[in-house]
Amino acid sequence: SAQSRLGLPSSVRLGGATIGPGGFSVIAGPCSVESRDQLIEVAHAVRDSGAHALRGGAFKPRSSPYAFQGLGRRGLALLAEARRATGLPVVSEVLDVRDLDAMLPAVDMLQVGARNMQNYALLRELGRLRVPVLLKRGLAATVDETLMAAEYILDGGNPDVVLCERGIRTFETGYRFTLDIAAVPVFKERSHLPVIVDPSHAAGETSRVLPLALAAAACGADGIIVETHCDPAAALCDGKQALPTHRLPDLVEGVLGVARAA
Ligand code: PEP
Ligand code: MN
Repeated sequence: SAQSRLGLPSSVRLGGATIGPGGFSVIAGPCSVESRDQLIEVAHAVRDSGAHALRGGAFKPRSSPYAFQGLGRRGLALLAEARRATGLPVVSEVLDVRDLDAMLPAVDMLQVGARNMQNYALLRELGRLRVPVLLKRGLAATVDETLMAAEYILDGGNPDVVLCERGIRTFETGYRFTLDIAAVPVFKERSHLPVIVDPSHAAGETSRVLPLALAAAACGADGIIVETHCDPAAALCDGKQALPTHRLPDLVEGVLGVARAA
């Protein structure tokens, strides 16, 4: 169960890294895998920044069916290559249980996107695996609904779930999503699961990513997942919110410093 076992917060292994108490994990990478050159270049920048894991979508849940949908299986092969080249563990989103066989050899942690947080058939299937799952809060999901979604995975016997606050839909239109920073301590009170924050999708713009990332570190999150790109203007997806890779080392140093002080 996800409910708090008093005094026993759990941690989740991600390759050589651990997400949970006593550390602060930075998962960074492009929104989508776009090409070999793009991914390998970002992956090296991510490793050199001191971040702990590489993110990158091969299957993209786009609002428009006509928008770039990701490279699919070719993207998975590139993620596996980036992992070999850098030693970084890889996090990537699963959209469809039919892709799992292809994903498992290439990916160290399966991301469930906000749009799939209540896809209970998918959650049940992930509960049968012994692979860590990054469960993103739904666009309009309450804390309770998020915890119950985690329960679907845990109930199947997979204990390795990390919750992710990524911003919710509110009346506010001044930015992309409302980062519900208060949800972080509430998730921590109500469950033993590690909690990370995605500052990128809430920010919607690069300039807001660092302050939201620092807020996550200050309020007790166990890490962040952040979008970065060597050439944000040329990104095929979410370029407006991508942190240029040359700014990643400062972000990593900043969040680690705040997390240590918090
Ligand atoms: C993503 O991580 O690129 C993504 C699509 O996130 P979310 O599901 O939170 O929108
Ligand atoms: Mn994205």
